[in-house]
Amino acid sequence: MKPPRKLHIKSYGCQMNVYDAQRMVDTLAGEGFVETASADDADLVILNTCHIREKASEKVYSELGRLRVTKDEAARSGRQMSIAVAGCVAQAEGAEIIRRAPVVDIVVGPQSYHHLPQLLARAEREGRALETEFPVEDKFGFLAQPKPEAIRARGISSFVTVQEGCDKFCTFCVVPYTRGAEVSRPVSKIIDDVTRLADNGVREITLIGQNVNAYHGEGPDGRTWSLGDLLYRLARIPGIVRLRYSTSHPRDVDDTLIAAHRDLPEIMPFVHLPVQSGSDRILAAMNRRHTADEYRRVIDRFRAARQDIAFSSDFIVGFPGETEEDFAATLALVTQIGYAAAYSFKYSPRPGTPAADMQEMASAAEMDGRLERLQGLIDDQQSAFNRAAIGRTVDVLFERPARNPGQIVGRTAYLQPAHVMASSDIIGQILPVTIDSLERYSLLGRLASASEAAQAHSRIAAAQVTTGA
Ligand code: SAM
Ligand code: SF4
Repeated sequence: MKPPRKLHIKSYGCQMNVYDAQRMVDTLAGEGFVETASADDADLVILNTCHIREKASEKVYSELGRLRVTKDEAARSGRQMSIAVAGCVAQAEGAEIIRRAPVVDIVVGPQSYHHLPQLLARAEREGRALETEFPVEDKFGFLAQPKPEAIRARGISSFVTVQEGCDKFCTFCVVPYTRGAEVSRPVSKIIDDVTRLADNGVREITLIGQNVNAYHGEGPDGRTWSLGDLLYRLARIPGIVRLRYSTSHPRDVDDTLIAAHRDLPEIMPFVHLPVQSGSDRILAAMNRRHTADEYRRVIDRFRAARQDIAFSSDFIVGFPGETEEDFAATLALVTQIGYAAAYSFKYSPRPGTPAADMQEMASAAEMDGRLERLQGLIDDQQSAFNRAAIGRTVDVLFERPARNPGQIVGRTAYLQPAHVMASSDIIGQILPVTIDSLERYSLLGRLASASEAAQAHSRIAAAQVTTGA
């Protein structure tokens, strides 16, 4: 029997890349590969890349420079190492990578991961292999499923891709070009995946998609199901105690999704809803196709359904043409909404996108200044949100032993890490925790007494506005 070959995957960027990396590991397991934590002893290294901003893209070439040294060292000790570039940089710059980086053996775009075994064979035969087509067949039908032991090793929380690609064409964004048109997976396949995960100990599922609430998958009844319909069904799968979804677009929030938040305690009251800017002028130039007020109204609908709901968002500062007045509108929106967390980025022109041709770029100093002010405001809101947990009893889903001996770490409904001293038997359970203090972004607490737990649960029930409709 041949000894197993070793595979090292390094993922950059979004949650979908994390999920894709796992599916590549599962698919290559069938070819005799086992995962290794270091590139040094790997027979195959995959860089699963991100193209969303220039900085993210450029990381690939510096990492390839380091890998050239590792590959040469392996060759000197008589071992052949192959290097593959996957992900959105592979899709956008495939031929350029082949030209610029002779160290690379395989370039594979996100829609072709199921062809990895054939690409490996082709690279062995022909020296190098490139595939960045958008194949007509559904890659999910061909990617191998994780083995039960792989699911258990990955822990109690799992991503499941339900939708991929984007038809929105925001003028700054590469996603519609690198991930292609919007495609939704059929409901039955998602139910199968979630059931398999639940049967092997997974308790929390995050449904992911570039535009997850644009989900419109074929239902088992022949109807097209929305994300809300899907959530109602997945909440019934035994073992699944928490459901999340990311990333949503404000235009695609429909009444079924809002109702699902109202009706299903399994859906966590924490929604990532990017807005990008608070200025209508800039939102129009970004082709977001909603105004700041329309965004506010979407937030209000969520809040009316579930009083304890909290939000996170994404912001871009320094989009071409953004004035101080536009930026002030963004600050005003953030102040008004009050976020539990948010990500903010300096605008980065991406080749091939409409905004890359727009003039009137803000200066580097203006961008830095705006980013600092926005991040300061968001940090203040996040700290206040976290501090508000002190003294309260909140539900925590326990995930794993923490770094400190004897401590177990889990997450609250709002993804705040929470640490308690307890036995590892509690991993996989949701337990009420009374929060005593805050250390940076982590909550520290103790397992709650029965009376503290009862009080907390009546508060949560009150926050969930159940009209029975
Ligand atoms: N689909 C999501 C949406 O509609 O907002 C997000 C997709 S993108 C992977 C994640 C975030 O990256 C975006 O929300 C945006 O804030 C940021 N982003 C995308 N393109 C960017 C660019 N060219 N420059 C700076 N930030 C960018
Ligand atoms: Fe990019 Fe999101 Fe806009 Fe689609 S909706 S183009 S993924 S920012």
